[in-house]
Amino acid sequence: MSDKNILVINSGSSSIKFALVNDSQDEFLLEGLAECLGSPAAVVNWKQNDEKKSLLLDGADHTGALAKILPLVQEVAQGKLTGIGHRVVHGSAHVTKASMITPDVIQVIKDAAALAPLHNPPGLMGIEVAQTIYPDLPHVGVFDTAFHQTMPDYAYRYAIPEHLYTGHHIRRYGFHGTSHMYVSRKGAEMAGLPVDNSCWLVAHLGNGCSTSAVVNGESRDTSMGLTPLEGLVMGTRSGDVDPSLHSHLYRTLGWDQEKVETVLTKESGLLGVSGLSNDMRTLIEASEQGNARATLAIEIFCYRLAKSLASLSCALPKLDGLLFTGGIGENASLIRRKTLEHMPLFNFKLDDQANQACTRGVAGKISAQGHPLVMVVPTNEERQIANETLELIAANV
Ligand code: AMP
Repeated sequence: MSDKNILVINSGSSSIKFALVNDSQDEFLLEGLAECLGSPAAVVNWKQNDEKKSLLLDGADHTGALAKILPLVQEVAQGKLTGIGHRVVHGSAHVTKASMITPDVIQVIKDAAALAPLHNPPGLMGIEVAQTIYPDLPHVGVFDTAFHQTMPDYAYRYAIPEHLYTGHHIRRYGFHGTSHMYVSRKGAEMAGLPVDNSCWLVAHLGNGCSTSAVVNGESRDTSMGLTPLEGLVMGTRSGDVDPSLHSHLYRTLGWDQEKVETVLTKESGLLGVSGLSNDMRTLIEASEQGNARATLAIEIFCYRLAKSLASLSCALPKLDGLLFTGGIGENASLIRRKTLEHMPLFNFKLDDQANQACTRGVAGKISAQGHPLVMVVPTNEERQIANETLELIAANV
């Protein structure tokens, strides 16, 4: 085992997800989740060598939780921790790649909090607490938006007055960049193509969903925009709606901005249409038992996904393949099949057996011979964050 260990931290408003990644081992040395932070139920659960462990945190906040997690990490890493990679959601247009956490980068994260109010502040809290506990280790920020900074202006600009862009940074940014980058690189490796001469459509389908067009290792377009609400139908998010919907709901129902935002982000998507669940597994089961609303939610999800993929093909000079990832993309053969059925002009055809075999982390080609390549590529954001963190630390030695 190499002695290069990176701790990856993904800090949310009441949770901290973490993984200890060794650069020569496929399995993580340690991975876990501290949740319900700041409440009496605060707890950290982790897995080490397939053994699950748990520790109550006595109402600890982020500081208290990291104070418990970091010594555990050091013990497993046998004191050899090379650095810490922090997932940060928004780096605005200033951050185009993984960056050492410096006072300037902290300022960028703070400034971008207006664009990601639910994500950047807890991310920053995780960074500050970890830096306090380990001031001598290199800390690296890996940004969800960074990979999409290669989009051309005609893809990232909205057709609204220019001063809203120049003065207020209103443009499309895109998210899930770490996953789109990892999956497009892995897809190229699996297909035996050089990353810098390969073109992919990527569908990241988890609780949040987004598509991207990746050309020669660079994002050329993606479905999410200023915020992660734009684009596809998701677990509880509506994705694209008519921009006039907000004012229509205000005029006709008297809903204020907060109510509209809550409905579109927390009560819409698969949950809103089905009235049942935001969980695709539940909807597939319900649909099989004849639940019409679950069936409709699945149909809308797949049709809108197909439409998004077809539109992103405008960004590709050629298509080397379509890659599915995320909890739904990696597991739901039904969703993969239904989506491609909505794209007859692309000549996609799945090998039914291969499609059904790709589930629970199994990667591979699922397209039939003689048809455009379609693959399932399990994402691994922690691995990507660790790789980028290590590369940056190595470059700065
Ligand atoms: P993620 O956010 O990537 O963890 O993905 C969560 C989504 O993946 C949820 O909608 C789950 O229902 C869905 N998912 C996980 N496993 C399956 C499965 N076997 N079949 C269908 N959907 C699944």
